[in-house]
Amino acid sequence: MKSLKEYIAEAEAKKVAIGHFNISNLEGVWAAYGAAKKLNLPVIIGVSEGERDFVGVKQIAAIIKSIREEDEYPIFLNADHTYSFERVKEVVDAGFDAVIFDGAQLSFEENIKIAKQCVEYAKSKNPEMLVECELGYIGTSSKLLDALPEGVATSGDALTHPDMAKQFVEATGIDLLAPAVGNVHGMMKVGNDPRLDIPRIKQIREAAGVPLVLHGGSGTVDQDFVDGIHNGIAIVHINTELRVAFRKGLELALQEHPDEIAPYKYLKEAMKSLDICRGPIKAL
Ligand SMILES: [Zn+2]
Repeated sequence: MKSLKEYIAEAEAKKVAIGHFNISNLEGVWAAYGAAKKLNLPVIIGVSEGERDFVGVKQIAAIIKSIREEDEYPIFLNADHTYSFERVKEVVDAGFDAVIFDGAQLSFEENIKIAKQCVEYAKSKNPEMLVECELGYIGTSSKLLDALPEGVATSGDALTHPDMAKQFVEATGIDLLAPAVGNVHGMMKVGNDPRLDIPRIKQIREAAGVPLVLHGGSGTVDQDFVDGIHNGIAIVHINTELRVAFRKGLELALQEHPDEIAPYKYLKEAMKSLDICRGPIKAL
């Protein structure tokens, strides 16, 4: 099977992106995997620090590995936003395929220093493991937003600068870069999220020399996905929309089957709400 790095290169060449879907439980894994299989596409399962603490760090690594090996299917595991070297080390040791060290709220120098340490450790244990870093602040929570989080970069000088991206990649040797290009973690309760700065995406991709990852994909308008992918985005993260869908699906399943006590029955119903092949989740 090809490596994740090869699948990403292939996606870029085809001008498509690989979907990265966060999960908090096994239902999420099966839903994302099921949808990917229906479309015959590679897929990345993401777990934040909180999500992986809930599922189990070594346990989620074992689950994804077992699916990949049993079905010979390109399903990969990424440790989403990881805020310290210690926690990066933990997922490298657990056998994850990729990790994001998120030093976006540190100084540029400090971010580089720890990122470099993460790259060196990851590559020494598994040369194929991918390390991603974040430059520019886009908020932290995958939740429904009443207003944009304070300090989030949505335009102009606050967005990731191409020169800094280049400098960062050269200094650290990271494989993937998550820029701030108008994207925001979470999703606006009312209306659309801010628009992406497509020319900036193109400039950053060219300057950085590595594929870009779009975080905060939930709430982004469709045309921005297409234009972003054509200009340097190789992976798209979706979390908030799935959280909303699962919650709504679970509420509905419990309402419809008030006497059902077998979790595998009502959770199966809830899981159907996560099927991304069914169309826009907002329509639920
Ligand atoms: Zn993110």
